[in-house]
Amino acid sequence: MSEEKQIVLECRDVSVRYGDVVALSGVSISFARGRIHAVVGQNGAGKTTFARAISGLVSPDTGEIRIDGRALPSGNVNQARQAGVELVHQSFALPPSFTVAEAMQFGAADGRIYSRRGLERRWQTYLDSLNVKVKAGQRIRDLPVETLQSVEIARALVSDARLLILDEPTAVLSPEGAQKLFERIRHLKDVGVTVIVILHKIREVLAIADTVAVLRGGLLVEGPVECSGIDAEKLAELIIGPAARPLEEDQKAALTGSLDTAHAHLAQSVDRATVEPVLKLSAVSTRHDSDGPPLEDIDLVIRPGEILGLAGVEGNGQRTLVRAISALAETSEGKITIEGLDVTRASLQTRRAAGLRVIPFERNVEGLSLTSALWENWSARELLQRPLLSMVRPSELRQRCGTALDAWEVHYSNVTQRAGSLSGGNAQKVILSREMDEQARLIIAAQPTRGLDIGATAFVWDSLNRARARGCAILLISSDLDEIMDICDRVVVMLSGRVVGTFTPPYDLADIGAAMTGVSK
Ligand code: ATP
Repeated sequence: MSEEKQIVLECRDVSVRYGDVVALSGVSISFARGRIHAVVGQNGAGKTTFARAISGLVSPDTGEIRIDGRALPSGNVNQARQAGVELVHQSFALPPSFTVAEAMQFGAADGRIYSRRGLERRWQTYLDSLNVKVKAGQRIRDLPVETLQSVEIARALVSDARLLILDEPTAVLSPEGAQKLFERIRHLKDVGVTVIVILHKIREVLAIADTVAVLRGGLLVEGPVECSGIDAEKLAELIIGPAARPLEEDQKAALTGSLDTAHAHLAQSVDRATVEPVLKLSAVSTRHDSDGPPLEDIDLVIRPGEILGLAGVEGNGQRTLVRAISALAETSEGKITIEGLDVTRASLQTRRAAGLRVIPFERNVEGLSLTSALWENWSARELLQRPLLSMVRPSELRQRCGTALDAWEVHYSNVTQRAGSLSGGNAQKVILSREMDEQARLIIAAQPTRGLDIGATAFVWDSLNRARARGCAILLISSDLDEIMDICDRVVVMLSGRVVGTFTPPYDLADIGAAMTGVSK
């Protein structure tokens, strides 16, 4: 087979602009058939735009995209699909009220009419053949995120996809979920599908991909090169670029996965047992909550200068806990205090005045109003914290917003632009810049690094460490156990709405994992 024939996708000089923003600039790259290609880069580097251009969702301003040697008409999803290109998005698009069978049929409409049972039989056979563990009659909204993703991938493969693009597929997965996804991707490669996968974690790139390409500021700066010929540190440098703030040694080690744990600071842990806690939950229970199991009899304290990690398989009450602390779920029994103040029945405004800050699970739903301007989103905290009638000058807020966004190195053009026009990671940074201010006393950080690039992840860890150093209490909820073990002073595990284990360093991954799955006593 000639070299030319092995190229499945070729981009020639592809550029995409959004108004003044150049998201992709003259990208020329080729991908070989039947391999796993990683695309990496900082937040806003152009990765999603690249994926959207290949799959016909955006129309490039210049250049040409060729599949199997044939030029694709620009910005045409149907033609891209016919050429075998399918994209699985960062956020899932299946209708929640549909059954799995209906959602599959929706994507693969073949014009035939099926009975409900017939439809379910048809798709059950297909899903079984792909080893997707789901019942075709289940509702999409009842599926755990990992199953949802497997269904999305299965749906993308219905139309005989030969080039599958996965945009940050591991961002929503637990480490075990990521392992299962990787097995699925390897299987796809074995049956001849070419996979392009956008990833942030270098250890994931090196674990799954055959080649890696690096985008920076819309430019292709490297690749695709063979992963066997590049090491983690070199890749980190390529992603971050020469001008960026150098990473501390321990951050670099943690990011590249070359240290098992980087909790050197934990050796200095102080005897905090005598200090008054910033957050105290005493025998807290909640009623049934739409966001997971109710809390049952939770006792929890976080003292000043402490990062408490909350580990657990998603859906075991972590969301309800965050909602109870931030006044969104009612506490039916027990007591919650912040800095000694009983806030059990207090409003969010009162809790924020006491120093509570929340980085929520769902940035696009709970964290930001995507149709509002950046400065309006950023100012929400001022409006919540100031007495209702005090003067708020929009010009001052816009200016302070700009200063905060610059400090967090958010890539934006103007504070008046809509939050929905930011890349995923930059949107997360807007929330972080709003919630991690000097007045914060208690920070609830739910998946704070989800979707962030390695530089921004290091920055978040550093910011959490600095907040701890000035006496903040922090609750870090993460599905990334490495992250939890690296930076937390103490770890609690939740299972079915209860705290089932408390751990102190040095942590044992197996012990924490056993508690998460209910295996331990
Ligand atoms: P992340 O890792 O944060 O998801 P990314 O590498 O996928 O980032 P893109 O989403 O491709 O980055 O964004 C590239 C640039 O284009 C960013 O500066 C972003 O703000 C901008 N951009 C993306 N979508 C739009 C849009 N719809 N309107 C305006 N600008 C946009």
